[in-house]
Amino acid sequence: MEKRWVATVDLRTLEVEYDPSFKFKCVEDCGLCCSGLEIPLRDEDVERIERLGYNAWEFVDYEKAFYRGGKFIGYALKKKPIDGGCVFLDPDTKKCRIYPSRPLACRLYPFIFIKHGEKMEIYVKTDSFCPGLDHPEGRPVNKEFLISAYGDVFEEYRRKV
Ligand code: SF4
Repeated sequence: MEKRWVATVDLRTLEVEYDPSFKFKCVEDCGLCCSGLEIPLRDEDVERIERLGYNAWEFVDYEKAFYRGGKFIGYALKKKPIDGGCVFLDPDTKKCRIYPSRPLACRLYPFIFIKHGEKMEIYVKTDSFCPGLDHPEGRPVNKEFLISAYGDVFEEYRRKV
């Protein structure tokens, strides 16, 4: 996988180094990642979505499992057989029906977080289909952007450092 470095977060100080030449904007009504990705669900994701009133069998695909380093990570988010879109993607509005409670993997896309000790390195896949990468109206992936989008994720990692 070819990837491009866009930022590094120091988990102790929350200082951020970033590549100012890279800009990102999630393009409204795009929804490509809601069809083009296989999303692993962590236990926390399943529990949070169940609290919205859904049953796991409605949105968990128990036939697709994810492993990292031989360790089971979770099952996949279900896709609709008719068009391959996520079961939570509204086909008319192309909006996510559970957006504030969506799985962590959906929140992270198109970024890849790789932890090295006290640093979190952030990359994007160079061959990603996401039209938001290097978008002319995009924002730099600086401290303000990262804390507003992923502050809670960094806090979770900070507790473990
Ligand atoms: S593919 Fe990129 S631009 Fe499109 S919805 Fe997903 S994150 Fe946003």
